[in-house]
Amino acid sequence: MSDSLPPEFALIGKYFRPLAGPGSLDLRDDAALITPPPGRDLVLTADAMVGGVHFLVDDPPDLIGRKLLRVNLSDLAAKGATPLGYLLTVSTPRDTPESWFAGFATGLAQDQAAFNVTLLGGDTTSTPGPVIGGIASAGMDVSDGLVQDLGHICRASGLRAVIEAAQVPLSPAARGAGAAWLETCLTGGDDYELLLAVPPARETALLAAAAARGMAVTRIGAFHSGPPQVMVRDASGQPLALTKGGWSHF
Ligand code: ADP
Ligand code: MG
Repeated sequence: MSDSLPPEFALIGKYFRPLAGPGSLDLRDDAALITPPPGRDLVLTADAMVGGVHFLVDDPPDLIGRKLLRVNLSDLAAKGATPLGYLLTVSTPRDTPESWFAGFATGLAQDQAAFNVTLLGGDTTSTPGPVIGGIASAGMDVSDGLVQDLGHICRASGLRAVIEAAQVPLSPAARGAGAAWLETCLTGGDDYELLLAVPPARETALLAAAAARGMAVTRIGAFHSGPPQVMVRDASGQPLALTKGGWSHF
């Protein structure tokens, strides 16, 4: 890489400029220009891929590039569209080796040729990466109620979970509303929180990673061997009987 350019421009020039085609202005401008063929509609789509969600972070980078292009080309094919060009947004951890970009661009080049499409432009940034990287053994976002969503992890893992109701973080208003609201808080939807399963040996690492990012994290219970189900205990250790599991869209 050239020393005189910021790293992202050096990467763009070396690995992404060779992929650029008509309308890209050679990736030297702020934006691309395309003129659709006369009488044709422009069909636009965007599908993101996230490491650890849509691919394994140590997957071969050329395959990641090809998959990224294909998941988007597949949407265009579904609309009966002919691919014209694509925008590429790349956000990688700071310590990503240059060889990763080389492999990624090689995969893109292969599928560009196979599907007759070229790069129009994009954006390149770095990311500190996910806070749970290498720490949690399972994780999910909770949006249909804590008890119901935790049940998915229990079934997938073949484990029983026990939630300590008194440790579940609640807003002061919900806490003040008393026991009558507790069931709604534990089973109602629209939580938009993250639920992590963390081995006891990694708890300290999780707390340190969360503190470094100013994120609140609370231990609300534990997994045990046993039939896959969720049990909630009240402050005195007694099981709470819940009348509903969570939010259902049906
Ligand atoms: P900045 O906004 O930091 O000034 P830009 O985001 O405009 O820089 O990037 C400069 C040029 O490089 C633009 O033409 C942009 O489309 C292109 N570019 C940046 N990242 C990518 C990428 N990942 N793939 C393709 N083109 C890119
Ligand atoms: Mg930009």
